[in-house]
Amino acid sequence: MLSETSGSAKPQIRIGQGFDVHPYDDDPARPLVLAGVRFDGEPGLRGHSDADVIAHACVDALLGAAGLGDIGGLFPDTDERWAGSDSMSLLAAAAARVAEAGWAVVNMDCTVILDRPKIAPHRDTMAGNLAVLVDAPVSVKGKRTEGVAGLAGGVQCHAVALLQQRGTERQRGTQSRAGAEMERDR
Ligand SMILES: [Zn+2]
Repeated sequence: MLSETSGSAKPQIRIGQGFDVHPYDDDPARPLVLAGVRFDGEPGLRGHSDADVIAHACVDALLGAAGLGDIGGLFPDTDERWAGSDSMSLLAAAAARVAEAGWAVVNMDCTVILDRPKIAPHRDTMAGNLAVLVDAPVSVKGKRTEGVAGLAGGVQCHAVALLQQRGTERQRGTQSRAGAEMERDR
């Protein structure tokens, strides 16, 4: 499949976008989890899994970029296997699917929209948690709702992912050679 595109002049890169939103949960015992960081004492989000809105948006950005559908198709919320699941493990699984499809992540960028907690003190931890799973640099930015009606009832996240065909990461412009090396590696 990959060798078919080796002679193409098209750059072997893809971009994907992901969005997710979860409302706050009424259960005061439910923890807030963002990019694998648990915030005790902050209102948690309602959802089938741990409702990690950043992880979910990143999954959709990766799957969208690779043309592999979306999080609901890969991890249906009707499937009890994913009930209460650690969403970072879903992101790891999505990243593996993207790699199997022949793509490497170049970078990802996320914006999470919420009023509290402040993201900046946790930005590096969150970005590091995500970067390990997708094997690429990730940035996480926090944005306050600024009092806009409807935005304060939950947490939203937007994410974008850039993918590059595996084997071409350091071989720009020499795609057939990169493809041959990739074939050997596999
Ligand atoms: Zn979600």
